Amino acid sequence: FEVQIGPIAMPDGSGSSVVLFLRDLTSARRLEAMRVDFVANASHELRTPLASLLGFIETLQGPARDDAPARLRFLAIMRTQALRMTRLVDDLLSLSRIELREHMPPTRTIDLGPLTRQMVDAQVPLAAERGVTITCAGEGRFPVLGEADELQRVVENLVENAVKYGGPTVAVSLARQDGSHGGEIVLTVQDDGPGIAPEHIPRLTERFYRVDTASSRQQGGTGLGLAIVKHSLNRHRGRLVIESTLGEGTRVRVVLPERAAHPAAEPPPASA
Ligand code: ADP
Repeated sequence: FEVQIGPIAMPDGSGSSVVLFLRDLTSARRLEAMRVDFVANASHELRTPLASLLGFIETLQGPARDDAPARLRFLAIMRTQALRMTRLVDDLLSLSRIELREHMPPTRTIDLGPLTRQMVDAQVPLAAERGVTITCAGEGRFPVLGEADELQRVVENLVENAVKYGGPTVAVSLARQDGSHGGEIVLTVQDDGPGIAPEHIPRLTERFYRVDTASSRQQGGTGLGLAIVKHSLNRHRGRLVIESTLGEGTRVRVVLPERAAHPAAEPPPASA
């Protein structure tokens, strides 16, 4: 606790009193430590590709100056490093934007069906490149209160992770269930890949946490994807459930409150 003592003069001049302030610093300190950690991690993540870029620039200015094939090879690597930095900066910006909006409840009704199909279709080329088969199931409407861009990002991240780290089959599905506080929409992304060891699962949504940093970097990952998903779901009053068995695969579910149908939004009855 931080203790502050301050005198207060009584308005009628009848003497003075002392006021004692007690402030709980535990959570403030914890937040400050998290912020310092975050800045240190972000700087480290940016420094790695920067150091590599600088190394190649110096090589191109010196030993490789007249070596045309080496120049082309180095430029390709430099492009990959620059793209990695761009992705990292984009993810950092997305995360801070989402955190700023975390306490603003979303206002639009979004049907998760077409949005999910669109995001799955967008992953088909990456899946094909890796020999991963991807399917999408779920009939009907899946209305939730949400922000389309944030929900797109959530679905994109989960499907992309399943294609990159899971495979060879990725099954995406939507369903409705009865929850304790009303209807719920459940998005499931299931893969039959190598799975995740249990000790990693509770930490996956931490910023920059990766099971295998080298493999995530090689796949173009920033380690921020699931942190972005978690903060978006906080805003949408949703929850993320990750279950995995080593050697069998991973199942990730997003559970969101169903947006009850508004009478005015119902389609008019078909005339006979
Ligand atoms: P990244 O940018 O590295 O993809 P994420 O936050 O999206 O970061 O994911 C964190 C880590 O969780 C990944 O680096 C990966 O090790 C692991 N992971 C996520 N999804 C899966 C999956 N479906 N199968 C196996 N590992 C996964």
